Amino acid sequence: MTDNLKENIRVRFAPSPTGGLHLGGVRTVLFNYLFAQKWGGPFILRIEDTDQTRFVEGAEQYIYECLNWCGMKPDESPANPGEYGPYRQSERKAIYREYAEKLIEKGLAYYAFDTPEELEKMRQEFKTEINPSPQYDSSIRLKMRNSLTISNEEVKLWLQEKKPYVIRVKMPEHETIEFNDLIHGHVAFESSTVDDKVLLKADGMPTYHLAVVVDDYLMKITHAFRGEEWLSSAPVHVFLWKSLFGLDKMPFWAHLPLILGPNGKLSKRDGAKYGFPVFAMNWTDPRNNEFTEGFKEKGFLPKAFNNMLAMLGWNPGTEQEIFEMEEMIQTFSVERIHKSGAKFDFEKAKWFNQEWIKKTDNQELYHLVAPILETKQISYGSEANLTDIIGLVKERCVLLTNFIEQTSYFFITPEKIDADSIKAKWNEAKNNFFNVFIEKMETLEWSVEAIEESFKQLATSHQIKPGELQLPLRIMLVGGKFGPAVFEIAQRIGKQETVSRIKHSLNLLNH
Ligand code: GLU
Repeated sequence: MTDNLKENIRVRFAPSPTGGLHLGGVRTVLFNYLFAQKWGGPFILRIEDTDQTRFVEGAEQYIYECLNWCGMKPDESPANPGEYGPYRQSERKAIYREYAEKLIEKGLAYYAFDTPEELEKMRQEFKTEINPSPQYDSSIRLKMRNSLTISNEEVKLWLQEKKPYVIRVKMPEHETIEFNDLIHGHVAFESSTVDDKVLLKADGMPTYHLAVVVDDYLMKITHAFRGEEWLSSAPVHVFLWKSLFGLDKMPFWAHLPLILGPNGKLSKRDGAKYGFPVFAMNWTDPRNNEFTEGFKEKGFLPKAFNNMLAMLGWNPGTEQEIFEMEEMIQTFSVERIHKSGAKFDFEKAKWFNQEWIKKTDNQELYHLVAPILETKQISYGSEANLTDIIGLVKERCVLLTNFIEQTSYFFITPEKIDADSIKAKWNEAKNNFFNVFIEKMETLEWSVEAIEESFKQLATSHQIKPGELQLPLRIMLVGGKFGPAVFEIAQRIGKQETVSRIKHSLNLLNH
């Protein structure tokens, strides 16, 4: 094992239910999942919902649905608790205070009674050109109202009087805080540059910083992959680990590279601007009804989505790009995760999807395509019928939603016929040909071979190249210049429907 492992690994994904899950979030899930699967440990989902102001209705449910769609089922979660529950931080509120108080006892944290007005005053007072937003840190703390600056008696009294307070960590001065990141290697911070983060809020809820450390400890987490945006919080976490539990118990961290869009960090706005999804599934923010499109509804296969995400920041060290989940699990290695940002390219994402459509068997595709056609009220006949048709057209589909256009003419008479494309090379001879062909069809045995043979013979006897007649026939049957072999289409839609579509087009052409 080269991945610097502890025994009995336990890996977690710990999202905050603050909205839809964007592709960076799902990639974090994926890397945690791949790692857990590879080394045979449980994959844990913990909901980090201690920030009540950012809580969004429905977001937790949405996370389950996304994980379910991607096929990454947690072994332990709020919905499926193991022995380390509860798995939702808001239900663990009573646990955290003890740890915050332990830090106070050790002189590593303190009570702070500053009012919002006082905090604002501090920001104004200490603001300089080079430091426009001063932090509550070692250079400031002794100028504020906290248990470091007021007497013990007064602190006791204020606590008794239930004066609102928070507990802040007391970051050491001029120390190097360091750890080994699985991706970035040795990472060091100068402790004085880190602010005294709030650990316990006035409402008694912990902040993320305290809760993440306490829970990773209590849940015996050994490894955590998380976004690079958390790297700057790592010194606080390392300090809390050292102060509360010992660094030897600290999980291995892997801070994943950012996902880049066309202009820097990929954002929801990029999706709207450039017309690609950034969330795993459709999401409507209940606070303002803002809608964000999902990869699922755009027509992505979960396998393709996972495959594409794995390649955002990781490579297998070979030319291979298409991976089954099982293969990804075997091939995955932390050493091959890049440090630098990974560029998201929607065209490449579609390429993965197209490859996966080609690779997936028709029966499996049926289960993905049928619901899409059903939402469009397209009745496709039997399962066997649609499965066969999927096989005929799948080479032409990049997204699952393309199956709507690529299959609907098998079931529904096209509303629009691209008559202009026929007209460009239309003449009386071709018109005659189709009129005779309609008559001949009456007695024709309705097999692909028979239709094709009769069509070609008749073309020859009319001294027209069959190729020149096939495109008009295709447009008459399909509505446009697309679809699989045209005689196959005719055979499938049936004799009566074929005649009727040709007649309808001839009518259009003659007016
Ligand atoms: N709750 C954090 C988030 O929403 C998780 C950060 C971490 O994994 O430590 O992203």
